[in-house]
Amino acid sequence: MVPQVKRSDVGYRFSIVVYKVTTFILAVSLPVLVSSCGGLMEVDPLVEAKKAIEDSDPFMGDWQGSWTLDDGADIGPLIAQVTALGEGKYRANFNAEFEYGWPPLYVLEGGLKDSEAQFDGRAEFEGNVLYVQSGIKEGKFSGKFRGSAADGQAISGIIVMEKTIRLSPTLGAKPPAGAIVLFNGKNFKQWQHTKKKSGSVKWARVKGRAMEVRKGAGSIVTKKKFTDFKLHLEFRTPFMPEKSGQGRGNSGVYLQGRYEVQVLDSYGLEGKDNECGGIYKIGPPLVNMCAPPMQWQTYDITFHAPKPGSTGATVTVVHNGVTIHDNLALSKLTGGALDGNVTEPGGIYLQDHGNPVQFRNIWLVEL
Ligand code: MG
Repeated sequence: MVPQVKRSDVGYRFSIVVYKVTTFILAVSLPVLVSSCGGLMEVDPLVEAKKAIEDSDPFMGDWQGSWTLDDGADIGPLIAQVTALGEGKYRANFNAEFEYGWPPLYVLEGGLKDSEAQFDGRAEFEGNVLYVQSGIKEGKFSGKFRGSAADGQAISGIIVMEKTIRLSPTLGAKPPAGAIVLFNGKNFKQWQHTKKKSGSVKWARVKGRAMEVRKGAGSIVTKKKFTDFKLHLEFRTPFMPEKSGQGRGNSGVYLQGRYEVQVLDSYGLEGKDNECGGIYKIGPPLVNMCAPPMQWQTYDITFHAPKPGSTGATVTVVHNGVTIHDNLALSKLTGGALDGNVTEPGGIYLQDHGNPVQFRNIWLVEL
């Protein structure tokens, strides 16, 4: 009915067992570890992400499970990405795996009813025409479907999914020897505003060794300038469910102050060149890896400046552990570039686009 399972049942079951064992070990050992370190231990990133999403909206985020035909003839994987749209409205993108990217198999608009987010409607994909009744209640996304399969056979079945969090593997990456630490939560010594170069940075330092854009304070740029480098940076977009497009968690990371890697809450969207991970109006991400708002995300960026005789700069961007630009040529500046002196070094510039986006753990290795 839907795409074939791409991993073996054995591997799938093994990963579930590993997950359950790991969860058990963490649950037993974490409080001991935290207390034995006198509370100095880093927050577990999985716990941190789960709480941040749940506190914002318990329905929002990644769901994972399976569909099963009532007659037991077939079973397969199913995921959903639920986006909060404000005023009790939601959208759910359904697919067989997160890695399948865009477009989703089918999309259902949802709404709050009592204490449940309901997603009912017609799902038409790959010759199947189904009527789905589903909803999220008490931490489970479940429902039923009926209709006709591609071969014309009448089918019916159930879906069951649970919340899952996909964490970036480079969250909390430590600066290697020789790295320049640009921000570790302690101060803004490495930074200045792009417009007023005198005076202190007016952005806020916030809980969790992070900084937060202060609307209207202006963008900031590193005092140091760089040529070729590897940059690690963590960010999270605010929860702004009623906003859309460029007004939803917008900021940006400008390389050499000239090329913007967009920061935006584009969770559940296609992944265009003006959305999260896009090189603004130059290149869309190969896949949209944007996490839900309030979840910490990572950019690991390798930048090579234009050299005499070369056509331009090149960039590789890894977003939440997945390469979304692979040695992409940057043949022009993006809007908002600080200057056009492309053969000169430039700073790392973080954009004030009026939204309270946060950044943390920023470091760079010169190449
Ligand atoms: Mg931007």
